[in-house]
Amino acid sequence: MNSSQNIEESEKLVAGKDYPRTYREFVTMFLDDESCREFLYKLRWNDNFICPKCKVPSTPWNQTHKRLVCPSCRHQTTVTVGTIFDKTRTPLTTWLEAAWHITTAKNGMSAKTIEQTLGVSYNTAWTMLQRFRVAMVNTQREKLSGIVEVDETQVGGVDVGGKRGRGSKKSLVVIAIEIHEPKGYGRIRMRYIQNASSDSLINFINDVVDTNSIIHTDGWSGYNKLESLEYDHEVTVMSHSNDQAHVSMPGIHRIAALLKRWILGTHQGSFSQEHLQSYLEEFTFRFNRRLSKNRGLVFRRLLEQAVHTSPVTKKDVTFGYDWEKD
Ligand SMILES: [Zn+2]
Repeated sequence: MNSSQNIEESEKLVAGKDYPRTYREFVTMFLDDESCREFLYKLRWNDNFICPKCKVPSTPWNQTHKRLVCPSCRHQTTVTVGTIFDKTRTPLTTWLEAAWHITTAKNGMSAKTIEQTLGVSYNTAWTMLQRFRVAMVNTQREKLSGIVEVDETQVGGVDVGGKRGRGSKKSLVVIAIEIHEPKGYGRIRMRYIQNASSDSLINFINDVVDTNSIIHTDGWSGYNKLESLEYDHEVTVMSHSNDQAHVSMPGIHRIAALLKRWILGTHQGSFSQEHLQSYLEEFTFRFNRRLSKNRGLVFRRLLEQAVHTSPVTKKDVTFGYDWEKD
């Protein structure tokens, strides 16, 4: 078994208390914006501040509580500039509280529930959630490896015909999941695709699965090209009915069921296609950290990624984030 088993990254416990374990601890740790900024500063630079302008490492002058001044070039910055919190007018205490609820609630929270829980406007809640979802994708994340099941499933919409989504009106999602032996699952990746063409499927696999992995699919011709690539392709040809899917693809079947239940439960079954990939990224982030020893670690991880993710503007997310861009 490789080290990536079960969780996305090794989330080693850090000595000392650098993340809250309970809501009570959370409240005590983040009483004001200043304590939030200190926490984010540690996650972003960990005492290795590098000036965003002249790139010289130093200890910035704390001119006021908020401004950080580079001793070399006098450039002024703050801990939030250049992150997903850039130019926000929402207090950091609110941002961190949203992050806490998103990561610690068993199934996360919809924008509507964040609005009600935090007493912010729906628009603010929605914007925070959208930005956090962008931050949930760690661009450094490793590809899946080992035995990987890949298949498509349909989400949302109304059932149109039975032809396994290759041609119907629902949204098509391709899923990859690591299979552990003798049992258990590793990490997942998911992508909203326009169709089940070879291009869509093979591009996805190329992007998210290490070569030399064993890829398990059904007999759909869209996967045929795998034979000529550096993958070990195992095909299970299913009988006429798609009801057999759970027999030969237990991992995919499980994820698809969880995904649909999550969309129905937490999000009342509603999403627009342009935002579907955002939902998929949140689901993936949650699933891949399902075995974290403490939800506070997941909270810490989300904020760590948030301060290492470039600014996301309202324009970036209003009509669906462009996940293809770098
Ligand atoms: Zn500088």
